[in-house]
Amino acid sequence: MYTRVDTAEQAVARAAAVDGALGPTNSPIQFLAGGTNIVDYLKLSCWTADELVDINGLRDVHGSVEVTAEGIRFGSLVRLHQAADHPVVGRDYPVIAETLQRAASQQIRNMATLGGNLLQRTRCSYFRDVDYDECNKRRPGSGCAAIGGKNRMHAVLGVSDRCIASYPGDLAQALVALDTRVETLGRDGVRTFPLRDLHTGADRPEVETILAPGELITALFVPSGPHTRRSTYLKVRDRESYEFAIASAAVALDLAGDGTVTDVRIAPGGLAYRPWRADAAEAFLRGRALTTDNAAQTGRVALAGAVTHGDNNHSPELGARTVARALMQAAEM
Ligand SMILES: Cc1cc2nc3c(=O)[nH]c(=O)nc-3n(C[C@H](O)[C@H](O)[C@H](O)COP(=O)(O)OP(=O)(O)OC[C@H]3O[C@@H](n4cnc5c(N)ncnc54)[C@H](O)[C@@H]3O)c2cc1C
Ligand code: SF4
Repeated sequence: MYTRVDTAEQAVARAAAVDGALGPTNSPIQFLAGGTNIVDYLKLSCWTADELVDINGLRDVHGSVEVTAEGIRFGSLVRLHQAADHPVVGRDYPVIAETLQRAASQQIRNMATLGGNLLQRTRCSYFRDVDYDECNKRRPGSGCAAIGGKNRMHAVLGVSDRCIASYPGDLAQALVALDTRVETLGRDGVRTFPLRDLHTGADRPEVETILAPGELITALFVPSGPHTRRSTYLKVRDRESYEFAIASAAVALDLAGDGTVTDVRIAPGGLAYRPWRADAAEAFLRGRALTTDNAAQTGRVALAGAVTHGDNNHSPELGARTVARALMQAAEM
């Protein structure tokens, strides 16, 4: 069934009618934003829904970018291309523009929304192919075909013995690095929380976010600061466009006049189960000079504790080098 709504309240009322769902991704009612993830997955039958609630009628209210002295607020229905091409985003928050410019293809960026991008589901091939029975994310308790199977693109950070799927999106790394806050409307009203808390861990792969069924992301607020201008995204992938990261890093830096790092934010991507922030690596680099050696060591700290499964044995080294290169790239801005 297809329903179209014109206000956030109508969207929430429609979708919140579902009780007992395991969070929004397993709800029989799904929002339709750009449709570039959910329609794809409905066709593959790896994600099912009884009803699609089209939220594009909310674009008048939740489809614009607002700039203030405190930061930048993106409505959740802003399209990827709209944010990527915004002059203030490119000038003051380059890491956000770069993640979007390197995501998917122009056609997908023209349709896909920021809210939908954050909530896109894994590209794990066993999740996408229903001929494989073993997938704890799709069928809780069935096992994980990727452990012992083909896992070159799978995560090495934040994984469990139940799921090693990689979080595929690019934008979330930039937004997590910049301490973005998520604003939502649900059946209990409005709430805000840090984006880094949105996605849950690999212990229960079938539950992916802290959102309640029917809870709508309305906006994303990114606070401004000296670090936002010196920020960049490095994405390593098998081909130069239309491809997900095998390793990436969003970084933001604040440097003293003598080159000492006074503030640093590091969010490795393509390597972790959920959008990831490398807190220990940041703590290591803060107060040190940004030399090639210190950057390399920071990369190694960021990937410490990585767990590999055979085909992805290269990921910790690749991830460490990606973080180090992104830091040196930011230092030159
Ligand atoms: C071939 C291909 C290549 C791609 N490459 C990349 C890439 O390199 N990097 C990258 O980051 N992405 C990539 N993508 C993913 C793409 O960016 C996402 O499909 C897209 O951003 C999802 O946004 P959407 O608006 O279309 O979401 P939809 O498909 O409409 O929705 C996805 C999910 O989000 C939920 N949802 C949407 N909006 C809201 C909201 N406001 N509040 C609550 N829930 C909501 C929906 O209910 C649904 O569960 C690629 C996709 C394809 C098909
Ligand atoms: S890695 Fe996760 S999504 Fe992939 S098969 Fe295993 S349980 Fe399913």
